[in-house]
Amino acid sequence: MTPREALKKYFGYDSFRPAQEEIVRTVLSGNDCLVLMPTGGGKSICYQIPALVAEGTAVVVSPLISLMKDQVEGLRAAGIAACALNSVQTFEENARLRAECRAGRVKLLYMSPETLLAELSGFLQDIGISLIAVDEAHCVSQWGHDFRPEYTRLGVLRDVFPGVPVMALTATADKVTRRDILSQLRLSDDVKVFISSFDRPNLSLDVRRGLSGKDKLRAVTGFIADHAGQSGIVYCLARKTTEKLAAELRLAGIDAVPYHAGLSPEERDAAQTDFIRDRVQVVVATIAFGMGIDKSNVRWVIHYNLPKSIESFYQEIGRAGRDGLPADTLLLYNYSDIVQLTSFARESGQREINMERLDRMREYAESDVCRRRILLNYFGEKSDAVCGNCDVCHHPPQRFDGTVLARKALSAICRTGQQVTMRGTVDILRGVYSPAVIEHGYSQLKTFGVGRDVPGRDWQDYLLQMLQMGLFEIAYDEQNHLKMTSLGEDVVYGRRPLELAVIRREEPKPAKKGKKEQKAVPQLGLQVSGGAAVASDALFQRLRELRRRLADEQGFPPYIIMSDKVLRLLSAVRPRTVEEFGNISGIGEFKQRKYGRLFVDEIRDFLK
Ligand code: ADP
Ligand code: ZN
Repeated sequence: MTPREALKKYFGYDSFRPAQEEIVRTVLSGNDCLVLMPTGGGKSICYQIPALVAEGTAVVVSPLISLMKDQVEGLRAAGIAACALNSVQTFEENARLRAECRAGRVKLLYMSPETLLAELSGFLQDIGISLIAVDEAHCVSQWGHDFRPEYTRLGVLRDVFPGVPVMALTATADKVTRRDILSQLRLSDDVKVFISSFDRPNLSLDVRRGLSGKDKLRAVTGFIADHAGQSGIVYCLARKTTEKLAAELRLAGIDAVPYHAGLSPEERDAAQTDFIRDRVQVVVATIAFGMGIDKSNVRWVIHYNLPKSIESFYQEIGRAGRDGLPADTLLLYNYSDIVQLTSFARESGQREINMERLDRMREYAESDVCRRRILLNYFGEKSDAVCGNCDVCHHPPQRFDGTVLARKALSAICRTGQQVTMRGTVDILRGVYSPAVIEHGYSQLKTFGVGRDVPGRDWQDYLLQMLQMGLFEIAYDEQNHLKMTSLGEDVVYGRRPLELAVIRREEPKPAKKGKKEQKAVPQLGLQVSGGAAVASDALFQRLRELRRRLADEQGFPPYIIMSDKVLRLLSAVRPRTVEEFGNISGIGEFKQRKYGRLFVDEIRDFLK
């Protein structure tokens, strides 16, 4: 079988993505390679196809049991002989799987690094190994976010299996990690390095600043209402916030559960499984909800707080839209995030590095040029493109003469002797008798109440803009009081005018029927609009229900049976025979035989 034939037979795809084809060829010719591809880029195919085509068994090293399980289920659902050896299975089960491998009946064998190291001189000597793939290879790097000490011992593979090609795969792009992988895994001198673009054009990027309290909650519920029935993750900074927000969302009728490292393993497992199986729509999580999430139909990610670096931000939004269909992301940030993250960074062991990371994250959030451009530049891909899929591209910032507003704010700060926080400044401007105002007698100031005509949340926004422009700084070591800079003095004494950006404040849009359909389907190269789109959305919902029934019967997550993308194609193309069904991209021979009849009957029934 050729690689292309295997791709069609098992995965139902007609062609490789550009990098995949070359990677497959490289491995099959016996070369080591390092593959850097963004999440959803199609890394798995790069070792799965060589594994299927070559003689023997491919060994795949994977850091988490949940990831292995997901991969093995997915492969088996496509009729591929795959299994995992790990410490949670019974001794008997592992023994049976070893025997299968010895008999040469397994094409892909998944193992944790610990198991692999333990089996090096034993069982692994008895099987013909075609290639070794080290997945999530960034785990070798101490500087990364998922360091796993055992990964650093995988260099011995080179000595034990000198003739077997080793592939390292990861979605983490930075140079230090790359260098660590090459040296720790001792990849050969003629290793081929493949770096794909890290762009994820199907992810929309949106940032809203300065919201707090009820406004923030309203932004979140509005966004989720726009994504009715679609799986999504809300990332928060603190455990407490996840609990509180999940409860608030449930009150608003949204099916949400919290997830954080303080829950028991059972509670965490239940939350994760319910999410993966489409039994709960929303997980409100800290970053503890991470690497094991391979679910391909996460349709949106919200950051409820500013993340601590662009790396983590990109990893987290990367969990959306792995199937390549449009997915939406929203970042909310306000002044208290900056204060809190700054204090974390300052108290951390690596103060300089963490402050620098936070600054770059803020630059992203505060930018008024295309956000994708900033991300790509950050990852070393020079880009001056305008993406058309971020809030800045959609609404280029409008400016107005903000000199008077800025002077009011700056003079309020001055009159307190620069002994006031951002929140206190807003209270003074708005004429609010808050505890701080009363305690310090700020109601006597000349500026008390001079900004009543501007809503508090808008003042927050303008102050963040002024901070970003360098009119004042936050003295983190002096209770976060605001300190005016010389630039600020120029403005307050009328020596320099100031432009501010008009605040964009659209209220949550009512969910429009069929809207997602029109957005999604053209990307698949099909023209569906108006009434047809609504009808195909109704069919999509029916097929989704069928998928879920089948998944529950077999105890799989629904996306293992078929991705959202395949369901979209089915509901637009509407195959009426099992043969037509088999022509849909993403349906291999095994799934055609197993599910063709059921889906075709459902479609026919719908059309009646
Ligand atoms: P990664 O591991 O890089 O995050 P996956 O291997 O999970 O990405 O692939 C992401 C999605 O792209 C999957 O739904 C996969 O089936 C699909 N895919 C991969 N290669 C191709 C291809 N050549 N043609 C069409 N779809 C593909
Ligand atoms: Zn853009």
